[in-house]
Amino acid sequence: MTHDALPSTAPSPASLLDTFESLHGRPADGVWSAPGRVNLIGEHTDYVGGLVLPIALPQRTVAACARRGDDLVRVHSATLDQTAEIALGEVGPGSPGGWPSYAAGVLWALREAGHEVGGIDAVIDSSVPVGAGLSSSAALECAVGAAVSDLFDLALLADDTARRELIAACIRAENDVAGAATGGMDQSAALLCRPGHALYLDCRSGEVEHIPFDLEDHGLVLLVTDTRAAHTLADGQYEVRRRAAERAAERLGLATLRDVDPHALDEALETLAGDSPGDRPGNDELVRRARHVVTEIDRVRATVAALREDDFDTVGELFTTSHVSLRDDFEVSCAELDLAVETALGAGALGARMTGGGFGGSSIALVPAEAAAHTADLITAAYADRGWSAPHSFAVTAGGAARRDL
Ligand code: ADP
Ligand code: MG
Repeated sequence: MTHDALPSTAPSPASLLDTFESLHGRPADGVWSAPGRVNLIGEHTDYVGGLVLPIALPQRTVAACARRGDDLVRVHSATLDQTAEIALGEVGPGSPGGWPSYAAGVLWALREAGHEVGGIDAVIDSSVPVGAGLSSSAALECAVGAAVSDLFDLALLADDTARRELIAACIRAENDVAGAATGGMDQSAALLCRPGHALYLDCRSGEVEHIPFDLEDHGLVLLVTDTRAAHTLADGQYEVRRRAAERAAERLGLATLRDVDPHALDEALETLAGDSPGDRPGNDELVRRARHVVTEIDRVRATVAALREDDFDTVGELFTTSHVSLRDDFEVSCAELDLAVETALGAGALGARMTGGGFGGSSIALVPAEAAAHTADLITAAYADRGWSAPHSFAVTAGGAARRDL
């Protein structure tokens, strides 16, 4: 398999301590880390208060940090080989901009929430592929958030209730400071996931259940393929889809599409299609967007039920149905994602789908362990055939949430 190019788990906390000391001329107070995530199913449902099912990745962002006596935030990203310095008082919506927003934004959000937080020195590094739909952004926020919680005695890692407060701060950092209007799935995964389990998260109530997800026992592997394709459409289209979901709910007189009973879906779609034949072409788009969201939420329930029965054939079928729905109804896939999915299915995967927001990013495939390397090679070969740059495939297991490492 072609996972040699990626450090398979995380940068070593000990080596990050060394880097910290040589950069800052003093030892760090500790090392914290948080995982990237991959969503098994439940795509484009978090912002309607739907259901999602992420696992934490073994790939993590690691942060060596120390308190400062003033209000300065000095962060070095070894991943990017860049350093940023900003006074905490200057952090706010849109400021400082760029990658430092994700780090400094967490300190700002914690202050906004009434916590006494001062400046820090930090060195971060990551094995989470950046911008691949695997949530390197939340991994960065939550690693820094975990550090700040311990350094300023906020006790926000103590239990899930406390962790939810940190989740909220990390979401504010991403939405308000970095200006990325994402739902809260990523930060919840980074702070609540458990090893060997998927996080069954109800985005409306915030309720979670930990569903056993241990493929090894069943001779299976979850193969992630980072397509390394980034389409410039992506950002604007996320907002457009979000608005379509809101408009559909409005027309149905509901708060969100979460409120559509899957058994009454046909009726709801009839309403959206409109009575007059002249309306139909214009409304067809809304019908398809709503159909994706409502059926996808139902597929999350079905996936959880199948996982409880160790019925991986059904899990695979649900993955593939989800992909078709995202491709045809929600229209957020792209040629690179479709090819990775089709190639995996052709190689004998039980199921495969795009994961994340779409228009690039990553796909996942549920494959027999002995077929994983061959499947990855076939995907790489299929990309080469089209003259596309090489994707990157690697097998993952369900890792643990943010924590102190040293
Ligand atoms: P994803 O979360 O899917 O990886 P995003 O676009 O949400 O993609 O977040 C990627 C952004 O997060 C990067 O462009 C960068 O600003 C920031 N980021 C993530 N990891 C790091 C890192 N290790 N060092 C510096 N910035 C990072
Ligand atoms: Mg992100």
